[in-house]
Amino acid sequence: MKKLRLVVIGNGMAGVRTLEELLRLAPDLYDITLFGAEPHPNYNRILLSPVLAGEQDFDDIVLNDLDWYAAHGIELRLGRTVVAIDRPRRRVIADDGSEAAYDRLLIATGSSPFVLPVPGNDLQGVLGYRDIADTRAMMEAARAHRHAVVIGGGLLGLEAANGLTRRGMDVTVVHIGDWLLDRQLDRTAGELLRGALEARGIRFRLRSQTAALLDDGAGRVGALRFADGREIPADLVVMAAGIRPNVRLAADAGLPCGRGILVDDTLQTFDPRIYAVGECASHRGIAYGLVAPLFEQARVCANHLAMLGFSRYPGSVTSTKLKVTGIDLFSAGDFMGGEGSETLTLRDPVAGIYRKLVIRDDRLVGACLYGDTRDSAWYLRQIRERRDLAALRDRLMFDPADAEAELPAPCPVVEPDLSIRQCA
Ligand SMILES: Cc1cc2nc3c(=O)[nH]c(=O)nc-3n(C[C@H](O)[C@H](O)[C@H](O)COP(=O)(O)OP(=O)(O)OC[C@H]3O[C@@H](n4cnc5c(N)ncnc54)[C@H](O)[C@@H]3O)c2cc1C
Repeated sequence: MKKLRLVVIGNGMAGVRTLEELLRLAPDLYDITLFGAEPHPNYNRILLSPVLAGEQDFDDIVLNDLDWYAAHGIELRLGRTVVAIDRPRRRVIADDGSEAAYDRLLIATGSSPFVLPVPGNDLQGVLGYRDIADTRAMMEAARAHRHAVVIGGGLLGLEAANGLTRRGMDVTVVHIGDWLLDRQLDRTAGELLRGALEARGIRFRLRSQTAALLDDGAGRVGALRFADGREIPADLVVMAAGIRPNVRLAADAGLPCGRGILVDDTLQTFDPRIYAVGECASHRGIAYGLVAPLFEQARVCANHLAMLGFSRYPGSVTSTKLKVTGIDLFSAGDFMGGEGSETLTLRDPVAGIYRKLVIRDDRLVGACLYGDTRDSAWYLRQIRERRDLAALRDRLMFDPADAEAELPAPCPVVEPDLSIRQCA
């Protein structure tokens, strides 16, 4: 029987994970063609930070080598960017003019770094932080230059700052917020984190806005000017001030997009032949920027591509972790708390430990941990499952999993005997 044709745009984490799931469910359903703009096999993008910090090499983070694609009969077109989707003809067109016809199309184009619209943002030495090419450019800059500025005090910015410091650069992080990771941590945890990173030699300019990047006279960035007119030297500038889902291709093809490409609970777009997964997709108004939700999407999308059709994606509860060796932090859910919620906090300044749990209606709705994150998986499970924790209320702060195990087992439910009895 002639196979259906599946074309995938994007050889990244979400696209390839969907293929892995699909190949498990229906290995022979499709002839698969995969376009990847990067000239590499699929790699673990989240491990770019350990590569930058000198803890791992690129080869260590490759997820699927070229043999894997060959073994599964996937036609891999590397270094090819898809530039158009022709929906009436059901074909995609790549930048070299080549085409591929599809019966089903999966868009998994990820995101691009947001480039601040300031003068000088196109100077040599100004980079985003998204792929191995950016990572190598930073490693190269660290060999030849001294002053790095990272714009953005979020997860990516701090990992970039840590890596560049480890490579001997003098690093300043410029952040518009009042504290670091202000979307992932509360102020107390953010300030503890800042202290730990300052102890490693990273400098911070909080509540600071970048006005311009200045030319060193030879076409390379040489300094950064703040909105208040002050300047700091910068011969490498890393923009880590957010991401923008890559939706252009889909939007140009007439697919409805918000922040991402709009998908339903099956990851299908408004065109029933076209699916979208990963950072480029917007599900119930959310375009996720972390790997865990994308893997959940991949499982559901594969189920539908495999024509099984019974799986739904309801959305994800996400959590935060920073990959800077020696710094443990975690947050999930509504960790800021507020009206209608109760907050339990523990602070041990000597040990550098901070814990904050937010409870509403006897359920854990948020957690923010710094310094000791041993119980993070347990807290995340409670937030996801919305379990009633009234019986554990006094022991939530310390080893709650042990406390849970000590609780008496719930009474077994006795089913009523509904069998018909014969009268004697
Ligand atoms: C440095 C770094 C650290 C991170 N750390 C973490 C972390 O600790 N935890 C976490 O959960 N997440 C982390 N993330 C985020 C995580 O990597 C992403 O959420 C994930 O990679 C998104 O997967 P994706 O497939 O949607 O996009 P990507 O992995 O970016 O894949 C998209 C691919 O599509 C290609 N592409 C785009 N347009 C086209 C086109 N038109 N034609 C062909 N190919 C195209 C791109 O080149 C890219 O290879 C990190 C990201 C970075 C950059």
